[in-house]
Formats: sequence, structure tokens, C-alpha cells
Amino acid sequence: MKSINPYTGELLEEFTDHTEQQVEAAIQKGQEAYLSWRELPISQRADLMKKAGQVLRDNTDKYGKIISLEMGKVITESKSEVEKCAWVCEYYAENAEEMLADAPIALPDGKEAKVVYNPLGIVLAVMPWNFPFWQVFRFAAPNLTAGNVGLLKHASNVPQCALAIEEVFTQAGFPEGVFQSLLIGSDKVANIIAHPDVKAATLTGSEKAGQKIAAQAGEQIKKTVLELGGSDPFIVLKDADVKEAAKTAAKGRMINFGQSCIAAKRFIIEQEVYDEFITHFKSAIESYVPGDPLDEKAGYACMARPDLAMELYEQVEASIQKGAEVILEGTKPEKGKAFIKPYILGKLTPDMPAYREELFGPVASVFKANDVDEAIAIANDSAFGLGASLWTQDPQKADILSRKIESGAVFINSMVASNPYLPFGGIKKSGYGRELAENGIKEFMNIKTVYLG
Ligand code: NAP
Repeated sequence: MKSINPYTGELLEEFTDHTEQQVEAAIQKGQEAYLSWRELPISQRADLMKKAGQVLRDNTDKYGKIISLEMGKVITESKSEVEKCAWVCEYYAENAEEMLADAPIALPDGKEAKVVYNPLGIVLAVMPWNFPFWQVFRFAAPNLTAGNVGLLKHASNVPQCALAIEEVFTQAGFPEGVFQSLLIGSDKVANIIAHPDVKAATLTGSEKAGQKIAAQAGEQIKKTVLELGGSDPFIVLKDADVKEAAKTAAKGRMINFGQSCIAAKRFIIEQEVYDEFITHFKSAIESYVPGDPLDEKAGYACMARPDLAMELYEQVEASIQKGAEVILEGTKPEKGKAFIKPYILGKLTPDMPAYREELFGPVASVFKANDVDEAIAIANDSAFGLGASLWTQDPQKADILSRKIESGAVFINSMVASNPYLPFGGIKKSGYGRELAENGIKEFMNIKTVYLG
């Protein structure tokens, strides 16, 4: 497994994949750890999670640099990502006990019952490279605090991040086996899911990987949470603060250099304010300055791998060939390079990749809507349903429309962003289940009914 700097192409480090025997040993170690971990009072597990947050805060620069070097994110974003991981550790350390407290149920015949929350055991987490720390911590913080143990199969291009995350838990004093990183390819996942000691799986990744993992887990009757792709709408109505919307739209598209599941990807603008929006949006995108990922002043650096940059460019090229308007001209990546300049495309039709497919990088698809109804229809004309951003100054209209949008979240007059306090997840091909907040900590718990006769 190779750790390669996508900005320079330099090989940073090479790792030997774990063998089948090592994977089996890790599962056994995880199971042993689980048997005592689940017996600890939740307050003790929470104390350790708080320490994990502290380890992250104490090493923000070190971990931020690993992220930037390994997947090309600019250092300012990498450091914020590490800090956000500390936040989610602290959030569950402070709130898990209350969230998982027994819940009494009063029955009409005077009898009593309650719900108690028990952990399940080993949960396998298959994670992507785009937020290589955040995606893992938002799984690990609730689950470990709740008494489950974690096995991580991280994306193959971020092995240093995988090992660094294991180090965080070790340094915080977690017992051995409670969190382990496996350096393995995706072809090894099915056997792990089938292992009797592995009780559930969570994937953040592509639709294709989701189909495979859900099928493998379904075969074994094991629960999954799937956080998959998105092609999130960013809807600007004629009564919106258009300038502010355009500035936020650019941020929403450019964050993580466009490689975010909840990045705004389809910009749907009511016709009366379309031209005004485009002027501000284009200049806001152009204001992002490229540079080295380790340069604090760089607005963006490169994509996470050269093949991803080329794949994105091919989606752009195919859309242009079918007649898409080029509102902002980007660049074609050089062979073997992960650098691309942002594009804005307009006049899109359903046969174009920029209309239908997820564009996982700095390319914005812009649509002109005749009215509100058409704007909502375009927003919902997608296989995905993760997050949506809606801009209007009319709160009543916002309330009505937010219910009509087919997505797991609607952010009004704001870009979509994850936050420990807010449930996160999708519908349609964006997956199922929720992470974060109280919903997230309960996904991999046995919600056990206890009835007192
Ligand atoms: P990906 O190819 O699906 O990879 C994600 C993870 O799944 C990696 O660890 C990968 O391992 C593994 N994987 C791939 N195919 C697999 C298979 N057949 N069986 C088992 N594991 C498999 O996704 P990506 O292109 O790296 O990541 C981008 C995608 O993730 C986008 O679609 C994005 O929208 C989505 N995403 C969703 C969320 C969300 O919360 N909804 C958040 C972030 C990203 P290898 O690296 O070894 O192939």
C-alpha cells in the first residue's frame, strides 16, 4: 500500500498489507477487548474519549500535515478537520451517557417497561480519503463511547492517516484492540463482514462500494449504515440575498477542493436573479488561489489522485461535447497530475454527466429555473438525496419548501455542513442510516426492551 503525495507525485512511504492471519488476529483481539470494554461504566469510556480529543488538539499541526501530504488538502482545512475531530470526541464524551440512559415506558395497564441500550461488538468501518480523519472520528467517537469496538479499513491512498488515527486512541490510553486500523484492499472486506465476531458495518464511499457492502452484509443479516454520494442542490430564489448566496455557493463548491459528499454541486437559480448570481459566483470561484497544500495562503492545491482529476475532467468534456455552456473555463489535468482548475457549466440537459452524475471535484453545474416549482423539480430530479441548501428571505416559504426537497438535510440561507449536534445522512442513492447527534450513537446499539411483569 503506497502513501503518495498527490501534489508532487512523490512516494512518501510504502506499507505492507496485512495478511489474512493478521486480520484474523485483529478480529480476535477486538473481540477480547470488546468483552471487557462493554463492561466499563460509560463515564470511564467517555473520559478516554475526552483524552482522545485532547491528543488531537495537542497534535493538530502534526496530523494536519499528514492529511495534506497524503491527499492534497490545503493545510488550513486539514488543521480544521483535526480540530473538528476533537470536537466530536468531546461532544460524545459529554453527552453519550445521557443519550444512552435507560428510557422508561409507562404502559396503559400500569405495568412498566424500559429500553436499555447495549453495544453490539465489533463494527467494521470502511472509510474514504476525502476527510480522512473526520469520517473516521464521526464513526469512532460515538461507537467507542457506547461500548462497541472499531476495525477500520481506510481508503488505500491514506495509510498514514489510518495509522495516525490508531495512534490517537493508543496515546489517549484506550485498551489495546478497542480501535484497530487494517491495511488491506477492498477485496478483503467481504470476509471480514462474514466473520461471526464482526457484528455490523458502516461505509462512507461510493454508490458502487455501498451496493457491494450492503449485499455482503445482507447475506449475513448484519446491519449497515451507508453514507454514499451526493449531488446536492443549492437553490437561490428571487427574494434571496443573492450576493451572499453566491459567495457561500462558491465556498460550498470549493471546500475540500470540491471533494465532499455534501458539497453544493447543482446550483439552481430563479431566472430573475440568474445573471446577478452568475457574476458574483464566477468572481468568487476565481478568487480562490492555487498553491502548495502546505501553504497557509493556498485556496486549493490539487485533487487526491491523478485518476480522480482525469475522471472529473472526462465528465466535464463529455458534457461540453453534448452542448453544455462553459461559464468558467478550467484546465485539463496533465497526464499523471492531480491538478485541475475549477469549471462552471451551464445550459445542462439530462443526457449530460454534469446534470445526472456526482461531480466529485471543483466543477459547478448551474441551472436557470423559471419559477419556484421548477427549481424544486430540478432539485429533486436526482438519484441522490443528501443535503440541500435553500436561499430565500421568506421563512414561511422556506419551511414549506424544505419539506418538499428530497434530501436528508436542508440548510436555509447557509451551506450544508456536518456538525456533531446535527443528524447526518441521506436518502435515495445517498444511502441510509444516520451519523452524529443522538441518532448516530444509536445506529449500532441493541435497542433492548425490558418488560417487568
Ligand atoms: P470508494 O471508492 O467507494 O472508496 C471508499 C472506501 O470503500 C475505500 O476504503 C475503498 O477502499 C472502499 N471500497 C471501494 N470499493 C469497495 C468494495 N467493492 N468493497 C469494499 N470496500 C470497497 O469511494 P471514493 O471514490 O474513494 O470516495 C468518494 C465517494 O464517497 C463519493 O461518492 C462521495 O460522495 C462519498 N462520500 C460520502 C460521504 C457521506 O457522508 N455521505 C462522505 C464522504 C464521501 P479502497 O480505497 O481500497 O478502494
